[in-house]
Amino acid sequence: MKNAKAYSAASATAPLAFDTIQRRETTERDVAIDILYCGICHSDLHQVRDEWNSVMPTVYPCVPGHEIVGRVIQVGADVTSFKPGDLVGVGCMVDSDHDCPSCNNHVEQFCADVTFTYNSPDKHGAGPVTYGGYSESIVVDKDFVLKVPDNLELSGVAPLLCAGITTYSPIRRWGDIKGKKVGVVGLGGLGHMGVKFAKALGAHVVVFTTSPHKKEDALRLGADEVIISTDPEQMQAHAFSFDFILDTIAADHDVNAYLGMLTLDGEMTLVGAPETPLQVSAFALLFGRKKLSGSLIGGIKETQEMLDFCGEHNITSDVEVIPIQQVNEAYERLVKSDVKYRFSIDMASLKQE
Ligand SMILES: [Zn+2]
Ligand SMILES: [Zn+2]
Repeated sequence: MKNAKAYSAASATAPLAFDTIQRRETTERDVAIDILYCGICHSDLHQVRDEWNSVMPTVYPCVPGHEIVGRVIQVGADVTSFKPGDLVGVGCMVDSDHDCPSCNNHVEQFCADVTFTYNSPDKHGAGPVTYGGYSESIVVDKDFVLKVPDNLELSGVAPLLCAGITTYSPIRRWGDIKGKKVGVVGLGGLGHMGVKFAKALGAHVVVFTTSPHKKEDALRLGADEVIISTDPEQMQAHAFSFDFILDTIAADHDVNAYLGMLTLDGEMTLVGAPETPLQVSAFALLFGRKKLSGSLIGGIKETQEMLDFCGEHNITSDVEVIPIQQVNEAYERLVKSDVKYRFSIDMASLKQE
C-alpha cells in the first residue's frame, strides 16, 4: 500500500477536508496515475451528502471524483497500451468482471459487477470502498484507462469523462443527427456539452431554458436557437418539430411539455435524475408514436471514441478551475447552479497540504 493525499468527507454533514488514504501497489494489470485535474460532478455532492442512501448508501470516509485526467507514472507487467508519461483519463468506472454480456458488448456500465470509481466495494482491499479523484493519485485496471488527446486544455478535458460521455452516448445512439432538429433541455454541466456535441455532429441545435439570461451563452456555445420554455408562444411555435431531445434536467419538471415538441417517431432521452418519479402522460407518447428513453454514461470503447472526437473537433468543457481548498464553496455554488459550466480542481493545489 502507498499513502496518497486526498480530500474526503467524514460524514454526510461534514465538509470535505484533507485526509491521507491508501492506494494499492501497482499489480501486473494496473496503471498508476498522477492526477492533474478532477471535475466536480453533481453526483459527487449527492454521494458525499448521502442523498442516494436508498440506492447506494455512502461509506465514510468518502473521496469523490470521477472526472479524472492525469499522467501515467507506473504500469504493471501486463500493460502494453500505456507507458509512463502518457496523458490518460478515468471516468465513472475502474473495473468490472470483464466477462458478461454487458462487458462483451462494450457497455460495462451495465455490468452487474462493475466497480465505480468511488463508494464501490474495493476488490483489491486498499479500503472498504473505492476512493475517487479528489486525490493526488489513483491505481486503475488497464481496461478502464482512457487515452487523452494531447491537443486539448486538460482542465476542460476532465469533465468529458462524465458530463461528456453522458451526453455524447445518447446522441450517437439515436443515429445520424446531421441536419436533424435536436433539442437540449437545460444548459448546465451536461446541457452545455450536449450543445457542443450536437453542433459538431451537424444538427440544428435548439436549447430549452427557463432563464432568459442564458440565451446569449447558449448561442455562443453553438446553439442555433433558444426557446424560453416558460413562454407558451415560443413553445407552441416549435411544437411537433424535433427529431431528438436530450433532457438534462435533474430537478422535477414536466416532461410532457417536451414530448409535445417531438415530431412523428421522435425520441426524448433522459440523462438527468430527478429525485421524485416523473409524471408521463400516455397521450403524449401515443400521438406521434413517440419514445421516451434513458441513458447512463457510456462504455469504455465509446468513451475513447468520444475523447478522440473531442481531439479532432477541439471540444472541451467550459470550466472554472479551482484549488481543492475551495471545494466546499464550490459545492455551495453547485447547489445554486452558479457555475459556467463545470468546476475543475487543479490537483497541484493538493501538494501544499
Ligand atoms: Zn458524474
Ligand atoms: Zn461484466
